[in-house]
Amino acid sequence: MNYKKLCFEMVEHQIKDRGISNPKLLKVMKQVPRHEFVPHGMRASAYDDSPLPIGCRQTISQPYMVALMTDILGLKGDEKVLEIGAGSGYQAAILSKLAKKVYTIERMKELAGRTKELLRKLGYENIKVIHGDGTKGYEKQAPYDAIIITAASENVPPGLLEQLADNGRLAVPIGPRYHQELIRITKKGNKLKEEYFGGCIFVPLIGDD
Ligand code: SAM
Repeated sequence: MNYKKLCFEMVEHQIKDRGISNPKLLKVMKQVPRHEFVPHGMRASAYDDSPLPIGCRQTISQPYMVALMTDILGLKGDEKVLEIGAGSGYQAAILSKLAKKVYTIERMKELAGRTKELLRKLGYENIKVIHGDGTKGYEKQAPYDAIIITAASENVPPGLLEQLADNGRLAVPIGPRYHQELIRITKKGNKLKEEYFGGCIFVPLIGDD
């Protein structure tokens, strides 16, 4: 399997052709080996234009959605980022190449353990995987310059907005089970600005908050 070629074509046709032009992001998406983040039996489909099952009834998100959510965070390279929903670790791997440090929380113990081990093996040293309920955030390292929630929620857990730094950006799919809208919330002092980036479908965020 020529994964390099499949990866190149994924970025050109699924991401660039749909309007994402951030050169650093496109470069990183060509470098991170998505096939390493899917189950062995699914490697041939790793660069398809769709989400894929990763076990534990969870999914790795569609490549375009990973790119879009990353793009709207507007990362410059020196940020501390919090991800809720580590899943396969693929989104965290992309973020880690565009920010200084990534904290990623996963509620499924099996996935958290597996992803931690994979990211260590692949050499992503600026990612910390935490097993727990991400709706509470990760107070210990707050505030975060950017927060990304890669699971669907009816509303943003209030604790996460508190853990967002001033001028920080939070990307989240908001809505009911089978249709959400991707939203970016920007915090300015005590004001929150909301912007909309189209429809999407994610597995649900499940947690206390
Ligand atoms: N970002 C992931 C990737 O790159 O593979 C895909 C995430 S998958 C669409 C959503 C993940 O969110 C699942 O792994 C699920 O277990 C996790 N999740 C759901 N509720 C959560 C919570 N409260 N805290 C942490 N993780 C949660």
